[in-house]
Amino acid sequence: MESVSIILVVEDEPAIASAVAARLESDGHAVTVCHDGLQAVDVCEVLVPDLVVLDLLLPGLDGLEVCRRIQADRRVPVLMLTARDAETDMLVGLAVGADDYMTKPFSPRELVARVSAVLRRVNDSSPPTGPDHQLGAIEIWRASRRIQIGPDQVHLTPTEFDLLAQLASVSPAVLTRQQLLVAVWGYRDGSGARTVDSHVRAIRRKLGDDVIRTVHGIGYALGDV
Ligand code: CA
Repeated sequence: MESVSIILVVEDEPAIASAVAARLESDGHAVTVCHDGLQAVDVCEVLVPDLVVLDLLLPGLDGLEVCRRIQADRRVPVLMLTARDAETDMLVGLAVGADDYMTKPFSPRELVARVSAVLRRVNDSSPPTGPDHQLGAIEIWRASRRIQIGPDQVHLTPTEFDLLAQLASVSPAVLTRQQLLVAVWGYRDGSGARTVDSHVRAIRRKLGDDVIRTVHGIGYALGDV
């Protein structure tokens, strides 16, 4: 028997979403359904799925942008759903970061088979042998949530780790305090900018002032160490 995989289904057509979810669940997977793209990106961050079934045409953000954003942090297998063969051809041509494509209409049975095939391929490939991000001597290991400097492990709180990892994943881009609040704390309103500042200070105390760069009037970016 195969192990249970966490699967996120992003599909705005309720009938297709529930048919796909039901089939995957009966195949033994744990399934979460999202109906729009923006929500999918947030859910993906919290859920850390083993695979995402992603419709191309979605309200909020389209599937291409969702794919780009969820892959920014870590490699997550994606099975893309499209409405026409022509779209599939285009996506393959664009080399979008999807592992497989299916054109609607498809049979849920075939989808389950494709999902199993993608999961098998991913599980067969060897685990990463290096850190996800390297900043001078500082190594960020996402899966084990470790910060390492040479042989020494540096302890960050979970929030500090998420904040640093978030900056690392978009580097060299700058993130505003608001973007960091949403990404790390999940806040939707404008409050709490000082929370970001105090966590940045804490990270600098542990890893050195240069690890995070203040971009005045904008926000923060990963530093040049
Ligand atoms: Ca759609």
